[in-house]
Amino acid sequence: MVERHADPQHLCIYPFLAAASEYVDTTGITLDDLIRAASFERARLRGKARVIEAIKDGTIRKPVIISPAQADIELSSYPFARILVSCVGDAYLVRRYALSEAKAAHERLSEDSSLDIIYEMSEEFDIQMDFFPHAQDQVLMAFSDYLRFTTNLRDKRWKLVNRGLKSGKVKLSKSDFVRVVQEAMYERIKKDLPLKVPNEICKVIQGYTVDIKRELEENRKKLGDVGFESLVKDPDSFPPCIKAILGNLKEGVNVTHGGRFAVTAFLLNIGLTEDEVIAIYKNSPDFDEARTRYQVEHIAGDKGGARYTAPSCATMRTYGNCTGTDDICEKVHHPLTYYKRKLKLKAKKKKEKTVKSKGQVEKDEKV
Ligand code: SF4
Repeated sequence: MVERHADPQHLCIYPFLAAASEYVDTTGITLDDLIRAASFERARLRGKARVIEAIKDGTIRKPVIISPAQADIELSSYPFARILVSCVGDAYLVRRYALSEAKAAHERLSEDSSLDIIYEMSEEFDIQMDFFPHAQDQVLMAFSDYLRFTTNLRDKRWKLVNRGLKSGKVKLSKSDFVRVVQEAMYERIKKDLPLKVPNEICKVIQGYTVDIKRELEENRKKLGDVGFESLVKDPDSFPPCIKAILGNLKEGVNVTHGGRFAVTAFLLNIGLTEDEVIAIYKNSPDFDEARTRYQVEHIAGDKGGARYTAPSCATMRTYGNCTGTDDICEKVHHPLTYYKRKLKLKAKKKKEKTVKSKGQVEKDEKV
């Protein structure tokens, strides 16, 4: 096995590796030390910083480790950060934190994608792969492993039809393989989160979680300012399917390619600008402005094609995006028709209310 596998400096970069938790075990740290001991205050502060960096920056800074003591602090801060995330108990934070840890590790892995580390990661995540003979920037990966880790990758290039196959194995560049490893890291970090942390422990560390909750709230307000409520005339009149997708985007839940397409086309067709639609995606934990802009512009027809309309109800049903139907849904075949119909009904009701209250005033004046 690779020599650096158990080197604490190496483990600090990848604290979710099995070897990292084994290392922490060998140091003899107890949970009580981690949450109470004065000597672990630096580890606790670093654990809190990990979570706050995840909320604010969507990634986690990897400090330069210059001493074994510093490595121990860095390594113990990881389980403490997981405890903090669990005590806050917010689903968006869990995803955001896991993704930020995975992104930070991916960044380092991309900088140092030597054969040793690629083999180490493949072994760690039980991925069957090998390099192309005489081409070490190309990888062959087992078909089942490829499927296992690419279900959340939405870009077309990840579709199997856009990949070469050789003897039942999927061909990909080394950098794409490293991106797949990021998905494996994300799954590992997210696994078991939130942990079942007893209330007493959460109480002991509430001084740290208070700051995290405040940061989370501020971040929500900031993102809320560009949320769809402030951008469109009447989001209350949106069909249930579109509301559900927007709700998921707001909560940072992974939305399928079909769901993203439907909501983007719907919003562009009711008059939102491309920038306003892009702003709606900013809550996604994996938001990438350049990629989102490209896709939104494509749907808007800026890339030389015609503007797409939103999918019909039948298509929405086929792809499992028709959710929470109501009375109006029974009378329409398209989400855009639903929206127009609901706006009309609302306007009619408003008019009736005005006429009624006007009639009442006239009646009162006669009396
Ligand atoms: S019936 Fe149509 S408008 Fe209603 S929720 Fe389903 S897809 Fe949306």
